[in-house]
Amino acid sequence: MTGLYDSFQRPINYLRVSLTDRCNLRCSYCMPSDGVYLLPHQDILTYEEIHTIVKVAAELGINKVRLTGGEPLARSEVPELIQMLAHIDTIDDISLTTNGTLLGRCAAELKSAGLRRVNVSLDTLKQDRFEFITCSNNNLGDVLEGIEVAKSVGLNPVKLNMVVMSGVNDDELLDFATKTINEEWHVRFIEFMPVTSQGTITSQFLSVSDMRKRLEQLGKLEPCLPSVGNGPARYFRFPQAKGTIGFITPVSEHFCFQCNRLRLTADGKLRLCLLAEDEIDLKQPLRNGISLAGLKQLIEEAVASKPLRHHLDEGAIPKDRPFCQVGG
Ligand code: SAM
Repeated sequence: MTGLYDSFQRPINYLRVSLTDRCNLRCSYCMPSDGVYLLPHQDILTYEEIHTIVKVAAELGINKVRLTGGEPLARSEVPELIQMLAHIDTIDDISLTTNGTLLGRCAAELKSAGLRRVNVSLDTLKQDRFEFITCSNNNLGDVLEGIEVAKSVGLNPVKLNMVVMSGVNDDELLDFATKTINEEWHVRFIEFMPVTSQGTITSQFLSVSDMRKRLEQLGKLEPCLPSVGNGPARYFRFPQAKGTIGFITPVSEHFCFQCNRLRLTADGKLRLCLLAEDEIDLKQPLRNGISLAGLKQLIEEAVASKPLRHHLDEGAIPKDRPFCQVGG
């Protein structure tokens, strides 16, 4: 068997790299309301360090990289990093997850640097609600414009991720779904994960099966293939629709059996599961001068300890880092 496999024989070929723990939004579902401790600048991996880790991981079998955060576009010179990663022979897909507020101004540069596609978080189509959810006074119009610019420069398909929260934005399910009928919108409805939960927030959970029941007011959802990738979403479309709807069920139906991913936090920890606290430090060994062979071995050992699954259903919520510091 060539490539990288964990101890449950799952092929591991996907690395999500968090570029920063900083974000210009404060989304209620992602960041604790009392704020977060921000990493000191010197603890954040440099682009050279990220490049070294990705290169070694690529030699082991990683061929897909997604840049995330925090807000990845809040870090400067992202196109420079993309160019460095695009030069690694066996990396054949570089993508980015963003809140979209800064996307319009740099989409063309990201594309020319080698970025293939973007996912944009979009939880509402209403400005006042956008401000409420993001706890900021940013402009929803910038996000919508960023999406259009990204499409126009060829960062396709642009996937829109909506975290559906009962009593917060679930009344917009049909509005988003209607967009997929009339326009080439690829919307993914994500179950809210109670990761920053302090108790009452779990009342915001809405299962994908409840979402589907509501959406079927608009017509029958027909299964379809994803336009790209083979991630955890299951895709559907309404008859004659221009776009698609994806459902992601981290809570009601976990997809750990097909997990192919690792995460690298902004401070250089290799995290084996979004929802488990196990991490292996790569930054310090790197700064202490570990050889590339040594780094490879560290990554292989880490992968061998990747947990079989998360245990959200048993109430096991990781407490060590909020999403903004893991790289969701
Ligand atoms: N700042 C970027 C953004 O907004 O897309 C990237 C980081 S954000 C942590 C990445 C993804 O995590 C977003 O698509 C968001 O929808 C998802 N996410 C964060 N907290 C979540 C939660 N509690 N439940 C479900 N998804 C969550």
